[in-house]
Formats: sequence, C-alpha cells, structure tokens
Amino acid sequence: MNITIIGSGVIGLSTAFYLSKEGHDITIVDRGDGTNNCSFGNAGYISPSHFIPLASPGIVAQGLKWMLSSTSPFYIKPRLDASLIKWGLKFYTKANEKTVRKNAPHLNNILQLSRSLMIDMNHDLDNGFQLETKGCLMLYRKASTGHHEAVLAAEAKSFGIEAPVLSKAEVQKMEPEFEMDVLGGVYFPIDCHLHPVRMMETLTQFCNKSGVKILFNHEVTGFEKKADHIIGVLTNKGDISTDQIIIAAGSWLPAIAQMLGISLLLQAGKGYSITYSNRPNNINYPAILVDDRVALTPMGKELRIGGTMEISGINDHVNMKRVKPIVDAANRNYTNLHLEVPAPEKVWSGLRPCAPDGLPYLGKSTHHSNVIVAGGHAMLGISMAAATGYLINQLLNGNATEIDINAFRIDR
Ligand SMILES: Cc1cc2nc3c(=O)[nH]c(=O)nc-3n(C[C@H](O)[C@H](O)[C@H](O)COP(=O)(O)OP(=O)(O)OC[C@H]3O[C@@H](n4cnc5c(N)ncnc54)[C@H](O)[C@@H]3O)c2cc1C
Repeated sequence: MNITIIGSGVIGLSTAFYLSKEGHDITIVDRGDGTNNCSFGNAGYISPSHFIPLASPGIVAQGLKWMLSSTSPFYIKPRLDASLIKWGLKFYTKANEKTVRKNAPHLNNILQLSRSLMIDMNHDLDNGFQLETKGCLMLYRKASTGHHEAVLAAEAKSFGIEAPVLSKAEVQKMEPEFEMDVLGGVYFPIDCHLHPVRMMETLTQFCNKSGVKILFNHEVTGFEKKADHIIGVLTNKGDISTDQIIIAAGSWLPAIAQMLGISLLLQAGKGYSITYSNRPNNINYPAILVDDRVALTPMGKELRIGGTMEISGINDHVNMKRVKPIVDAANRNYTNLHLEVPAPEKVWSGLRPCAPDGLPYLGKSTHHSNVIVAGGHAMLGISMAAATGYLINQLLNGNATEIDINAFRIDR
C-alpha cells in the first residue's frame, strides 16, 4: 500500500516504525523542518502511573482557582471561539467520577501496552532513546496533596501497579546529593523516561534507513476525493497520490480533519521546558512536583524541567510570568539545585493536543474508507506513541487489536 502519514511528531514516526516493517510504501508529510514540534521538548516520561484522565473530579474547581493567578500552572485564555466553548463544556461534563471509572481502565491498557512496546522499540534501535526504567517520583510539600497522592497510589494497586508511599527520609535517601524540602512522595517503579530529542532523531534515522520518505516543509492544504475514498493529499509543494491516510498532526488535527469534513474537539495546551546542560551533578530520579505541576527529568548531564498548561490557541508565545514559577518550584523542592531563570529565547514551548475527555483519538474515519486518525494524546503522547503505531498496524491489517480501542473512536 501507498500510505501517507500527516505529521512527523512521535505519533507519526512511531506509526511509520510499525508500518514500515510490513513492507508498505510510506510517505510522511510535515510542514515543519523536522527539528521541532511538541515531541522534542517534553519531559520524556513513559507514565503508566497516569491512568487517571485529566478531566477528573476537582479539576474544574482547582482550574478556576488557578485561573485567578497570573503565575499558576494552568490558564485558559477567554476567547469567543465556538470550538473552545464546546471543548470547555465537554471537559466540564466529563470531569466526574463516573467518567473516570469508565475511562481509566482504557488509559491503563494503552499505557501498559505502550510501555512494553517502547522498551522493545528502544532495544531494536540500540538504545537510541536513552531509555531508563528506574521509575518516577511524585513529590509533595502539602499534606492535602499527600493525601490525594496516597489515594491514587491505592488505586494504582488495583491496576497491578506498585506505588509505595515514601516518607521525607525515604525520598532523601533516593536523592543523596540534594537537600529535599518535601513532605513525602509516591514512587512508581513502573514508569520510565527517555531523551526526547534522541528518540526523535533515532526514529527519523530509522525511517531514512528503512525507505520511509519524509517530506519536510510540505504543508497539507487539502485532499482529493473519489466518493468516500481519498486518492490524493494536496500540499503547498505538490500532490501525493495515496491508498491510505493516517492523520497524526498533533494540535493541528482539527484543522486537517475539518478539510475532510470531520469535526473533532481538541485544544492546544501549551507547556514550557528548560534544559540545563553540563550539570556538575544531577538528580537521580525523574520527579513530578505535584503541588506545582512541574516535571524534572535527568538526561545524562542534562536536566530538563517543564510545566504549565495554557489553553490559549495555537501560538508559541513564551510568558515568563509562568516560566519563573517552574524554576522556583524546582529550587524550592531541591534546595541546593540553584537553577537560574533563563532568558526567554532559551525557553522551549510546545503544544499538547488535548481532547476534552483525556482519551486519545485513535480509529478509522466513519466517513471515509481509507482514513485513520491518531491524535489527542495530550500530556501522554510519548507514553502512548508505541502502542498507537502498533494498534494502527493491526487496524490496517484487519486484525483484532490487542486491546479494545472502542473508547478511543473518533465519533465518541
Ligand atoms: C512541557 C511538556 C511536557 C510533556 N511531557 C510529556 C511526558 O513526559 N510524557 C508524555 O508522554 N508526553 C509529554 N508531553 C506531551 C507530548 O509531548 C505530546 O503528547 C506529543 O509530543 C504529541 O505528539 P504528536 O505527534 O501528536 O504531535 P506533534 O509532536 O506536535 O507533531 C505534529 C506534527 O504535525 C505537523 N503538522 C501540523 N499541521 C500540518 C499540516 N497542515 N501539514 C503537514 N504537517 C502538519 C506539525 O508540523 C508537527 O510536526 C509533554 C508536552 C509538553 C508541552
């Protein structure tokens, strides 16, 4: 088959990884130059621990509180935009216990499958992702946060996920080089982390070696249809004839889907990261500072810290008022880390593709015979990438999928 994948982020490249092994003729089209998209500057976590969708009880009240502060980790820019209003209403109606109970098992299934596939993929590619399987810490300074994390740890056990609750002294023992100012933590040994830039470079090299054509600087502008079949992808640099299309366009998914008459609710959730190079010493474990929603990732001699979720449309504006609290939170928890607030041009920003119910969109278009949508992975795109590509391969082969993906269907 001639397969066209739209988007060369982690979802597009992981899909190419599995499809290329079947001998298909694959073309990836991306309007970028292959050096940046959301898949490069993220925290690099593979997080089966994140089986609770973002739309969950308490998040709306917390979000409204955060909206009042210009330095908080969450912000929605008020706009008179029909798609934002519909997305907000859907998020609001899904943020309840019943939906969490329904969706958490599906998230757990895809996250667990993806963890094991990602480890295999990294192994196949000679550890090009610099993947480590040492787990992740959830750290807190507030007793109320600690209580919430302990409840999550108990729920994790019901999914077979080990999650010991740690005292301050136990956390300190895991990070002997730093003075930890925390109340305690929860340790998820199942979680992994990798170096996102190395992962993207390794997957791109794999594609180049395997005969997958990548057309950078090609923007998809439309499609050529024959009844319910798409026969061509139109780009600003010419047309590509195709037998099958996979749309993996991250936060631009609704715009591309709209060209095909498919309506999808999705908002870009901007986040920031800062990478400190050549550190004389580094933290041992990746950690999420839960009170501040900040993530720290050790990557050899590099330390990456990141956070914030700004729903403010598609833009790469860096708001330093929200960047400084990320650095401050890291220094507050690791008191002798001494990180400096960087100049704005040193701050990376990326757009998480956020579906309102916290589940990805993964499935065939009901309007077309040869279109598959793969997107909306929000804060878990690295964590779910391998399973997404693997499941798409099973869908295309007409096989039963390894896990039930009905909950991810695009017309839900
Ligand atoms: C601060 C931060 C930290 C994060 N940390 C983690 C983490 O630790 N673990 C985790 O699992 N996830 C994390 N994420 C989320 C993760 O990065 C994303 O879910 C993931 O990168 C999305 O991948 P994607 O391939 O769907 O989209 P992208 O990487 O954005 O790729 C989409 C591609 O589509 C292309 N495209 C768009 N429109 C067109 C068009 N018209 N024509 C051609 N090409 C087009 C774009 O140019 C882009 O290259 C984080 C995100 C942020 C912002």
